[in-house]
Amino acid sequence: MGLVAGVDAAIIAGVFGLAVGSFLNVVIYRFPRMLERQWAAECAEFSGQAAKQEEPFNLVVPSSRCRQCGHVIRWYENIPVVSWLALRGKCSQCKAPIGLRYPLVELVTAGFFALCGWRWGLTLQAAAWAAFAALLICLFLIDMDTQILPDDLNYTLLWLGLLAAAVGWTVPLASAVWGAALGYGVFWLIFQGFKLATGKEGMGYGDFKLLAALGAWLGAHYLLAIILLSSIVGAVIGILLLVVGKLANRDIPMPFGPYLAGAGLLAFALSPATIPALLPFAFPFGAR
Ligand SMILES: [Zn+2]
Repeated sequence: MGLVAGVDAAIIAGVFGLAVGSFLNVVIYRFPRMLERQWAAECAEFSGQAAKQEEPFNLVVPSSRCRQCGHVIRWYENIPVVSWLALRGKCSQCKAPIGLRYPLVELVTAGFFALCGWRWGLTLQAAAWAAFAALLICLFLIDMDTQILPDDLNYTLLWLGLLAAAVGWTVPLASAVWGAALGYGVFWLIFQGFKLATGKEGMGYGDFKLLAALGAWLGAHYLLAIILLSSIVGAVIGILLLVVGKLANRDIPMPFGPYLAGAGLLAFALSPATIPALLPFAFPFGAR
């Protein structure tokens, strides 16, 4: 336990989470675009074309702008949740709507950070689990938007999970390693089987890596529960999309990554220790 614990730690961590959530909004929007630029540059290099000189574009530069009118967003227009409410969800210049998603990401991130502060005080262990939640929020929305689960995020999550086990914050290290290996392997086998049977590719390699990362954090005994939870999350998201009428006009198949990421977040929110009691059949080999 850190010096600050309980409610105090939850509030401090939650406020910090608001700021992190604001940054996650930037990551979710820019990271796939950074990758696309990188791939385009690599393709140009392979095909022997001269690389185009482009303006720098990363998580820091250029400053955020309104996508409609280009208005540079000032610091006081960028305060998590508060600014969105003050601007009534519209650009101060051209009144183009600013999605409800931005304050929602900030609030959800704050909620997970507060939970970490509540459970572990202001400790490194809380920070590790906060990183777990932040990475899953990014993976969830990036995959939803672009059908990509970036390796950088998947592998960061995987290695953090293995390290957290190595220092004794999560599950025994052997369980984390087996969780990662089996998580990848099980999905790989399903993928190959599905491909043999139908000639189609049902999942992507990003999904294998994400299940491996979740296996590293939660342990090998948790894999079945994650897959089960992800189908529950998938059903809920599917129903929600149907209700708001967004499913009908989607030509692209719904990726599996958001369900997996959602399952990881759900397991964490309910506390990894309570899931075996809720879904005992998902733990045929025991809950440890
Ligand atoms: Zn604008």
